[in-house]
Amino acid sequence: MDAQHTTLLIIGGGPGGYVAAIRAAQLGIATTLVESDTLGGTCLNIGCIPSKALIHAADAYHQTRHFTGDSTLGIHVQSASIDVAQTVRWKDGIVARLTGGVSALLKKHGVKVVKGWARIVDGKTVDVTLAKPEAEPTRIQCEHLLLATGSVELGLPGMPFGGRVISSTQALSPASVPAKLVVVGAGYIGLELGIVYRKLGADVTVVEAQNSILPLYDDELVKPVAASLRRLGVQVHLGYKVQGINAAGDAVRVHDNAGRESELPADQVLVAIGRVPRTHGWGLEQLMLAMQGRALKVDDQCRTSMRNVWAIGDLTGEPMLAHRAMAQGEMVAEIIAGKRRHFAPNAIAAVCFTDPGSCHRWFVTQGMPRRPTWTAFRPTSPLPPTAAPRRPSPLMVSYAWWPGGQPLDCGLASSGRGRVRAEYGVFALAGGGATLEDVGGTIHAHPTLGEAVQEAALRALGHALHV
Ligand code: FAD
Ligand code: NAD
Repeated sequence: MDAQHTTLLIIGGGPGGYVAAIRAAQLGIATTLVESDTLGGTCLNIGCIPSKALIHAADAYHQTRHFTGDSTLGIHVQSASIDVAQTVRWKDGIVARLTGGVSALLKKHGVKVVKGWARIVDGKTVDVTLAKPEAEPTRIQCEHLLLATGSVELGLPGMPFGGRVISSTQALSPASVPAKLVVVGAGYIGLELGIVYRKLGADVTVVEAQNSILPLYDDELVKPVAASLRRLGVQVHLGYKVQGINAAGDAVRVHDNAGRESELPADQVLVAIGRVPRTHGWGLEQLMLAMQGRALKVDDQCRTSMRNVWAIGDLTGEPMLAHRAMAQGEMVAEIIAGKRRHFAPNAIAAVCFTDPGSCHRWFVTQGMPRRPTWTAFRPTSPLPPTAAPRRPSPLMVSYAWWPGGQPLDCGLASSGRGRVRAEYGVFALAGGGATLEDVGGTIHAHPTLGEAVQEAALRALGHALHV
């Protein structure tokens, strides 16, 4: 067996692992990264990037279709059609460009990338079965071991993935658009991809076990998203339990909240009921590390219970977001390089890219009390209508808690991703620890949602200036 030695060995080349590797190499640490698949992990290959690409394409098609009818804007197109295979090729091109970019960056910084499946021997030793056929396995020894193996999709018992039952990975590369799609789970993936398929022309039915869509989000934020699903014609069933596929294999059997059974016809079923840390199949159990539920337990420096074994990203549990994994990866590299760092962000923003009705919230990491005060309102200043004539008029709800002037938790739901982007600086300001007075005292560009967030702050301060 071939043997190598490195200072830092990283298992997993997703946003957590590759950011850690680049930062470590920049800081002069000899770094090896083991990745079994294409660099970029879930985020670049089968997650954030391909899903946002399809959201963009589906929305463009949806808007174009509106212009085949009456248009108050005076825009008319004869007919609209979509070549889904070409859309998927376009999406794959974006993914390839970005994953190629990651590969180039790792090379440029001198990170040694080993393509293969890693298996832990002990806290300082990892065996890698190389991807190259007939290649000898490699043993890599290290001083620091960073675990960044990410997460995998959760399946439904009695309804395994395969055939008509697909996960987000297959849903991101459709060969064609099914006539009828049933989506199980009204969380991030179910709503983002459910809307994509609806805009591509499928009849979409969403089944959610809880009594609300996006159950993690506050009620006020969810209302405009629910309204936009209704307008799009997406059927939503709340409080339903999925029993399995019917005998004919063409419908999903469900129980409603009163226990009545019915069938929802389905050409395809997208199961999107959450993801779980990838803790099996690579010898993690050898280390007997402390766990927190199904995730690896880490402290505020991403140290596991074993010295010099670190863990970041989805493997360490919620919130399973790419930007959290990246921030943790950068921090671990800096700690190993001797810097004093802790993972204690004021907040971690999250966006569910439904549209219209983009929904935001912050996960605040410190255990502070919630709900001292809140503000929920619609803006008084007019916002320009969106381009497509049959889109709803812009609706915005801003919602915030501010104990003693310090923003604690904020949420926002809005129509139009452009406005969301314009707004984002305001959230960054508050996330950076600005007080209510700071947010209220910032003059925002018109017409953006920044104005409305300022208005919320002024209201909470009792200055009803803009009301
Ligand atoms: P991953 O990205 O999962 O990377 C782990 C890597 O480790 C993988 O490449 C895997 O092949 C490799 N690996 C695992 N085990 C081994 C082994 N034994 N040997 C070698 N290699 C191994 N987050 C957002 O912030 N915004 C979004 O818009 C967003 N959209 C998403 C959409 C979808 C459809 C999905 C599924 C997820 C989305 N996410 C989004 C979540 C985001 O993708 C993850 O939070 C993020 O990728 C986690 O990064 P990570 O580095 O922890 O793990
Ligand atoms: P999720 O946790 O967001 O949503 C899962 C939903 O399924 C929940 O509403 C849950 O109540 C429901 N559910 C669970 N079991 C069910 C059952 N048996 N029947 C019906 N409903 C059931 O999970 P997801 O949508 O699979 O996404 C996984 C993770 O990926 C997310 O937690 C998120 O961290 C990440 N992600 C993020 C983004 C983003 O940031 N925009 C986008 C996609 C995914």
